[in-house]
Amino acid sequence: MALDSRETKNTSTPKTQAHAASGSVARSSTQSGSQGANKSVAVVGGSAAGLLTASVLARQGVGVRVYERIETLEPAERTLIVTNRMRTLLGRAAEGSIVNEIRRFELFTDGRSATFELKQPDLIIERRALIQGLAEEARRAGAGLELGRRFHALHSNGRGLVLEVERCTDGSREEIHADTIIGGDGAASRVARAAGWSPLETAPLVQAIVPLPKDMAPDTARVWFVPQDTPYFYWLIPESPTRGALGLIGETGPETRKLLENFLEKRGLAPVEFQGARIPVYTGWVPVRRRVGQGSVYLVGDAAAQVKVTTVGGIVTGFRGALGVAEAILNGGSSGVLRKLRRELDLHLLLRRSLHEFQQDDYSKLVDLLNDPAKQSLSEYSRDEAWKILWRVCLSQPRLILLGLRGLLTHSRSLRPLRGSRP
Ligand SMILES: Cc1cc2nc3c(=O)[nH]c(=O)nc-3n(C[C@H](O)[C@H](O)[C@H](O)COP(=O)(O)OP(=O)(O)OC[C@H]3O[C@@H](n4cnc5c(N)ncnc54)[C@H](O)[C@@H]3O)c2cc1C
Repeated sequence: MALDSRETKNTSTPKTQAHAASGSVARSSTQSGSQGANKSVAVVGGSAAGLLTASVLARQGVGVRVYERIETLEPAERTLIVTNRMRTLLGRAAEGSIVNEIRRFELFTDGRSATFELKQPDLIIERRALIQGLAEEARRAGAGLELGRRFHALHSNGRGLVLEVERCTDGSREEIHADTIIGGDGAASRVARAAGWSPLETAPLVQAIVPLPKDMAPDTARVWFVPQDTPYFYWLIPESPTRGALGLIGETGPETRKLLENFLEKRGLAPVEFQGARIPVYTGWVPVRRRVGQGSVYLVGDAAAQVKVTTVGGIVTGFRGALGVAEAILNGGSSGVLRKLRRELDLHLLLRRSLHEFQQDDYSKLVDLLNDPAKQSLSEYSRDEAWKILWRVCLSQPRLILLGLRGLLTHSRSLRPLRGSRP
């Protein structure tokens, strides 16, 4: 099981062992077993990606402390949809956060609709419970958790790195030594800025918690393509038989909120609360490591834009980034998990570039073309397996390739280029 502290270290082969599928990352047997244990790692950001990295490293005997600015483990609530892969990656740490399962998607555009079933259900999760579960696992694995500590700055002192951290209660500062720092501090990562990465492009994501419409089954998610409002889409995901989250990814914050309010009004849905934040837009791979003096700085999750830009989902890809960074630290730099993640994120970028150009006519054709064999492909694979989905859908419905190519060739709407990654 991914975060089971009873799991033993695997040193049976000379090669790096990284099992993203089971969430376990083991040190290469060519590494000295005690080497990592003597190193100190500071993780900034006690959320999804930072906590998973801390757990995996701590379980391998590395001394890890997590510095999180919020003072109690009560992060903002957020209803999220993720693929079933999260279960495989996290094991029991996932279970407490799952509030519902989605077995069907309904797509709408301009009076048309298409429905497809999922073979593996998607999961609706509650972010707060997820973070609390991960924090529990990290503690159990031996990681220290320092709440109410805001990272300020870092510098090298010749022996390693020094983090300047502010206590949120009284504003006092402390300096902490670490050989390695991991920035899991989100889209506006201060660690990334301090270590010299440039800022990420971000997009506003706003969602409203609403009563579930009477005609909607609680195991079905809805997606609306309305290209005059957004190059992304609106979604409604049920978190229970009576409530759901209806959201939108937009281009500017105030406009996105306004569009969402109009959309709710048209459907007669009264928002119970709003949730929102800016999320990074993946415009190209962000190298996850930089040397600073004698030490190393790594980025995980949103801080490294490890977000699928098709759907702007960052939970599962952030976990994969966390496993990859832990693997790279344990094995002296290389990580197969990170290579696979990069390929996957690049493919999502390619798909997004095409979708970004879609006009109403294209979406209408897309929904019409989602004939049975294509729908079968969407059901068989999880949304994390974009390559396989793309391949199967194109084989079953070649006209979709033409639609996609048209989108790529007419490339005019503003999604920054693939090459726009940071150094
Ligand atoms: C409304 C909304 C809905 C979303 N829906 C989905 C969805 O359905 N599916 C999906 O996969 N993704 C979704 N996402 C994206 C997903 O939530 C993020 O990709 C994911 O939470 C990123 O996790 P993270 O650990 O990298 O960063 P974050 O969750 O952003 O965590 C960063 C942590 O760092 C801490 N921190 C920041 N600065 C400092 C500092 N200076 N010192 C100390 N600590 C600091 C913060 O307090 C926070 O705990 C959604 C996002 C939003 C906003």
